[in-house]
Amino acid sequence: MRVSTSNVEGGGWSTGGYLSNCSIAELLATEAESAKQPLQKAFRRASRRAFLWPEEASAIIDQNRSLQELPGVGPYLEKVIRRWIENPPVVPNPPAIRDGFLTLTEARAWLAGDPSWSRGLKGDLQMHTEWSDGSNSIQEMAEAAELRGYEYIAVTDHSKGLKIAGGIDEAQLLKQEEEIASVNEMLKSSDGRIRVLRSIELNLDPFGGGDMSEESLARLDLVLGCFHSALRRKEDQTERYLAALRNPSVHILGHPRGRIYNFRLGLKADVSLI
Ligand SMILES: [Zn+2]
Repeated sequence: MRVSTSNVEGGGWSTGGYLSNCSIAELLATEAESAKQPLQKAFRRASRRAFLWPEEASAIIDQNRSLQELPGVGPYLEKVIRRWIENPPVVPNPPAIRDGFLTLTEARAWLAGDPSWSRGLKGDLQMHTEWSDGSNSIQEMAEAAELRGYEYIAVTDHSKGLKIAGGIDEAQLLKQEEEIASVNEMLKSSDGRIRVLRSIELNLDPFGGGDMSEESLARLDLVLGCFHSALRRKEDQTERYLAALRNPSVHILGHPRGRIYNFRLGLKADVSLI
């Protein structure tokens, strides 16, 4: 694999004859800005997906394989990317909305640099199941997590206020508690080490308030509080975070900035005050 340390440390922006997936993503996003539909959409989508490509596109070319193996790449984009890899253009510095994101290959290269980081990872405290907008059952999530060597996972399906994500209400949360109990029983009887924690991704309003009854939240092992509205405010949002942390039901603030690659800049706050 040709993921060099210098490439990772440089964030992949300077090409030096080698074009990383990160640089390809930036070139695709830049192309999208001047392209017409439907090409614009294809460029934007491929730019996003480049962050999850499992291999470096340049390595695939080195092995005489087709770039169409990569999600988001069809015959036209293969030609464009191939041309860039063969003759690397200057990659512009990304604007703030795309700056500071790591690709999967970069993240893996970082982790490989110190195996103790991966070994120290014992669980996952944010995951969705088919109870809201995830695609797998609680049992499937637990089994997959066990294969990764995790000791615990928290099931954090969306709460009722987030209708678009199929948020669950108090009655559904109680039913889910039963399912988690039986999954834990089953795991225990099959000598599994993993434990499933009862949790929720509580939808917070911009004033730090949740959308579920305190009684139902009190039954959980853990409450993740997350903002899903008014995420494009430009002014300082320190007060909003402080209000959320004052909410006695909330244990952890999830995806605190609400940042999304090439889509939303995310909220700003003075972290030293939080
Ligand atoms: Zn969320």
